[in-house]
Amino acid sequence: MKTFQCQCGNSIFFRNSRCASCDRLLGYAPGINTMTALEPGTDGCWQVPNAGRVRGATFRLCRNYADHDVCNWLIPVDQPDAFCFACRLNRVTPNLSHPRHPALWYRLETAKRHMLYTLLDLGLPVVGRDRDPQQGLAFDFLSDRDTDSEFTEPLIGADPVSTGHLNGIITINLAEADEVARARMQAQMGENYRTLLGHFRHEIGHYYWSLLIERGGRVAEFRDLFGDERADYAQSLQRHYQEGPPADWSRYAITAYATAHPWEDWAESWAHYMHMTDTLDTALQFQFVPPRPWRERLEEFDTMMHAWTRLATGMNAINRSMGLSDAYPFVLQEGPARDKLAFIHDVIRAATATREGARPPIFGSA
Ligand SMILES: [Zn+2]
Ligand SMILES: [Zn+2]
Ligand SMILES: [Zn+2]
Repeated sequence: MKTFQCQCGNSIFFRNSRCASCDRLLGYAPGINTMTALEPGTDGCWQVPNAGRVRGATFRLCRNYADHDVCNWLIPVDQPDAFCFACRLNRVTPNLSHPRHPALWYRLETAKRHMLYTLLDLGLPVVGRDRDPQQGLAFDFLSDRDTDSEFTEPLIGADPVSTGHLNGIITINLAEADEVARARMQAQMGENYRTLLGHFRHEIGHYYWSLLIERGGRVAEFRDLFGDERADYAQSLQRHYQEGPPADWSRYAITAYATAHPWEDWAESWAHYMHMTDTLDTALQFQFVPPRPWRERLEEFDTMMHAWTRLATGMNAINRSMGLSDAYPFVLQEGPARDKLAFIHDVIRAATATREGARPPIFGSA
């Protein structure tokens, strides 16, 4: 993730909506991939300070920004939409009648925008449900537990909610946005890593399996590495939860859950690829890693992995110095787990090769 600079010179971050130094309102303009300070203009519009009437310097706030403060994205004034590109992907948002839900929704939206940033930065296509009603992307943020009970008691009248992906629809359980509820689920599942951002990155992996593997004609290559995804999905998951992963899982999979089914293996590997590229990008911003060719369209997988191994080792050591758990609590062994990441690298590179040098046109305009 890039860091940005306010018009006053202060460093600002992707999730900020107010500059801590000059107190100006801030917003992210997806079409030009930048954060900007804003000053009130006419007709409820907002202007980049000192930009006068420069074309592209006048915006409206996304409605979820203006009304609920859960978004910080901008809409160019000449576009008709009420919601920004990220919020137009929402199909169901949390019921705001509960006083804790706006804060939980904010966390969901923050993680979602962060995930989208990396996709668009990589140059991947993001096709919404509005453009592809059968398989386009949309988000359902649902709840089946009572927020007042820290998500331990069922919510009367609500259907069960499973975080997951189906034909472009990504469902995230609101409980995942609650620190206490998520920590409890993490302990119950015996996981060493469970984050909201991780959920988004995993589920979007399923979306790209359909888009880039199934519809991209790469199923045979996929099966060579990940196995045959025609294996019964429900049975495979049931077996995983009853019997646990094979004892030697770390020899060929990135996480224990990846062994549940080839689709889960792909989604876990995809999420890790996003963890790596985004974290390396952030490290580059702070000059924690030398500028290397992976940034130039991620040409060199081995170079990237080398930089990643050094960085992850360093991050973990730094976290231990602060008394925190490891930032990247995984061991990436040579062999199949790494070959799967290399395949994802190649799939992304192939999918974005035609978009070289240009941000996808869908960003901000579709
Ligand atoms: Zn400022
Ligand atoms: Zn928005
Ligand atoms: Zn999954």
